[in-house]
Amino acid sequence: MYKLFKRSHQPGLFEVQIAGVCDTGIARDHNEDAIAIQEDDGRGYYLALVCDGMGGHNAGEIASALAVGVILEHVEENFRQRSPRELLLESFALANARIDQQAEQNPDARGMGCTAVMLLGVKDKLWIAHAGDSRGYRTRNGTLERITVDHTMVQEMLDNGLLTAEQAAMHPYRGRISRCLGHAKNRSEPDIDEATLDKGDNVLLCSDGLSDVTKDEEIQVLIGQRDVRMAARRLVEAANKAGGPDNISAVVIRRVM
Ligand code: CA
Repeated sequence: MYKLFKRSHQPGLFEVQIAGVCDTGIARDHNEDAIAIQEDDGRGYYLALVCDGMGGHNAGEIASALAVGVILEHVEENFRQRSPRELLLESFALANARIDQQAEQNPDARGMGCTAVMLLGVKDKLWIAHAGDSRGYRTRNGTLERITVDHTMVQEMLDNGLLTAEQAAMHPYRGRISRCLGHAKNRSEPDIDEATLDKGDNVLLCSDGLSDVTKDEEIQVLIGQRDVRMAARRLVEAANKAGGPDNISAVVIRRVM
């Protein structure tokens, strides 16, 4: 289990706490998820990122680690010169290109890729980018809402009225994603949603290893733990109690002041 805890603050004025856990789960023997969190220690932004890798051998791990490295570096080097939206579009495009490039050079890694969901925060303004089925949620006044729409074949069928929500939840192909970074010809450009972070709000970024096996009501309760580290840990524990069939990542971002 991998844990991080950071604060992002100007004492007395504005404070954000971020904690993340990235766990192998119970059924798998290695972890293809990767997470990153950064505080606003004078850099002008804070961020959180969850990537969920796929591909044979260790390719999924390579893809998600590459994506995290490329994205963090690009944001850090270009934050002052770009708008948040441009930064997110560019960093996803770069990560996509880098993963494809590596896959071409290594036959074992052919077809590797990863999903990504990322939050870039500048004070109380959030930009949330995602490609694939890793998700963002927010609670405000204790009520949970989804802030991302999965890029999956099943979600597209649901949007087009070809399935009911119940059929979609049970669909045998519900894990098939329609966008990701890498994976050759797949679409990679993210959707970017803007949101605000009010005092008391929580945002969760997670991989499908969490969202597939936990109910919204459960997430809504667990995210409200007094301590963000505890919230992230409890969410991952809940997925493991439900069998932990996949790697599990949870990053919780909370504005406490
Ligand atoms: Ca997964």
